[in-house]
Amino acid sequence: MKVILKSQAEIERMRAAGRVVHKVLSTAKQMCQPGATLREIDEAGYRVFTEAGGRGLFKNYPTYKPGEGFPGNLCISLNDTVVHGIADDTALKEGDIVGIDCGVELDGWCGDSAVTVMVGNVSPQVRRLCEVTSHLLELAVQNIRPGRRWSQVARLMQNYAERAGFSVVEDFVGHGIGRQMHEKPSVPNYVSPELLRNDIELQEGLVLAIEPMCNLGSKAVETLPDKWTVKTVDRKPSAHYEHTVAVTADGASVLTDGS
Ligand code: MG
Ligand code: MG
Repeated sequence: MKVILKSQAEIERMRAAGRVVHKVLSTAKQMCQPGATLREIDEAGYRVFTEAGGRGLFKNYPTYKPGEGFPGNLCISLNDTVVHGIADDTALKEGDIVGIDCGVELDGWCGDSAVTVMVGNVSPQVRRLCEVTSHLLELAVQNIRPGRRWSQVARLMQNYAERAGFSVVEDFVGHGIGRQMHEKPSVPNYVSPELLRNDIELQEGLVLAIEPMCNLGSKAVETLPDKWTVKTVDRKPSAHYEHTVAVTADGASVLTDGS
């Protein structure tokens, strides 16, 4: 499958999907208080994107047949869960961090964004993990330009994370997005010989879901027997932030920030 570039008009349609995703995450953020359950947040997310005319991209992924695939409406990943957490009746408590990832299709176009929310007072170390991971996403957006290679952006993210003392998850990466949630190319948050061999030149009309994930401890992750939940092997916390971002003539435009 080739990289599919998007026209200005198509990017604006993706921004409309992105606005719905932003609305879901805004609602979810407000709900992240001690005592709220993951299921309540998941169900609120479903209501918000459904009322906006959107369709959730995670429920029953990847076949979208009822009863198959991912069981949740959102991915809700608590503390040592890196990504793909399944909402249950666990209640949030002070000091938790909770990753909330939402994908929505609206009128045939997709948006995908994630945020890690700190519940009440979080330890300074874990707060720093969230701030650094969030900054990686900003760093990527600020440094995207047509003509640059993705490895240059990935190197900036990896260096910043590692200088702060955190590790970058390698098993999950960002992706192209458009009519499909997952399109070419893959956009890792670290540099590898493989990336350098298959490097991507950024060009106007490329739309990427950029999603840095950082761990407080080791980068090693494992998938639980439920086949979805991904946790750190050392069970230390992990943070995840994501935006859908279009490459423009002179930089980048974030499509999931509510603008
Ligand atoms: Mg996502
Ligand atoms: Mg994604």
